[in-house]
Order: sequence, then structure tokens, then C-alpha cells
Amino acid sequence: MEAHAEHEARCPDCGWPEADVYQVVSRHPTSTGMLLYTRCACGRLQVRALRVPGVGRPCGT
Ligand SMILES: [Zn+2]
Repeated sequence: MEAHAEHEARCPDCGWPEADVYQVVSRHPTSTGMLLYTRCACGRLQVRALRVPGVGRPCGT
């Protein structure tokens, strides 16, 4: 068994694991979820798209 995740993305600058968000700068809702602007521990800005199930669908009923 592997000890780490199948694809563990890390910051190319400082090696901070992207799964561990250091700071959320801002978030913007989209049709499929939201765009998340994050800042790494080294100051690198990153944009990631989060898929949120159910967003964009009519709710209720
Ligand atoms: Zn970094």
C-alpha cells in the first residue's frame, strides 16, 4: 500500500501540499461550483476550480 495519495499536488515553489489550503484569498461562484483563489505559504497565488454537487441545479420540490 502506498502511504501517500495517488496524486499529491504540491506547490512548485515551496512544496506546500495543495490539499492543505494556506489562505483563501477570495471565492467566486460559478455554474458548476466555485473558483477559489488561494495563497500559498510562499505567497504564490493559485486559482482552483471546485466542483460542488447540486450547484446550478434547481433545488426544492
Ligand atoms: Zn508555495
